[in-house]
Amino acid sequence: MKHDDCIFCKIIAGEIPSAKVYEDDAVYAFLDISQVTTGHTLIIPKTHTTDIFETSEAIAGELFSRVPKVAAAIKKAYQPVGFNIINNNGEFAGQSVFHLHLHLMPRYDESDGFGVKWVERSSEFDADDLENIATKINQAF
Ligand code: 5GP
Ligand code: ZN
Repeated sequence: MKHDDCIFCKIIAGEIPSAKVYEDDAVYAFLDISQVTTGHTLIIPKTHTTDIFETSEAIAGELFSRVPKVAAAIKKAYQPVGFNIINNNGEFAGQSVFHLHLHLMPRYDESDGFGVKWVERSSEFDADDLENIATKINQAF
């Protein structure tokens, strides 16, 4: 279902121009206007869904199943040395467009425009701590 106030629904409908990378019945992939790295692509489900928490297994399955071939095409075209796949959910996590999307981010070198802060904290958690955390999540299913 198209959401009238959603910029990505408008892109799918062709009401806002985009540089299309791939399209089929279920997904649309296009260049992110910011081009954090060259070839930076967004892949989105054609069915509007706000974020991962609102997304059905069926929609997620369709979206994620297309990622390998779109990533492979970007890799073939640009020969990056690495590749990050990013999905931001919620404003706090950096989401600015509220139509589910995956960022496909080819990586070229340390100064290529993309980076994540990744703090290693394994010394603060023993096996019991990990068991307790996993149990808390297990119980939430
Ligand atoms: P988010 O911050 O929600 O994870 O990512 C949204 C992305 O959409 C941003 O990287 C931004 O550059 C991109 N974006 C926003 N508006 C447009 C647009 O009109 N066209 C295209 N191609 N990308 C857009
Ligand atoms: Zn939408």
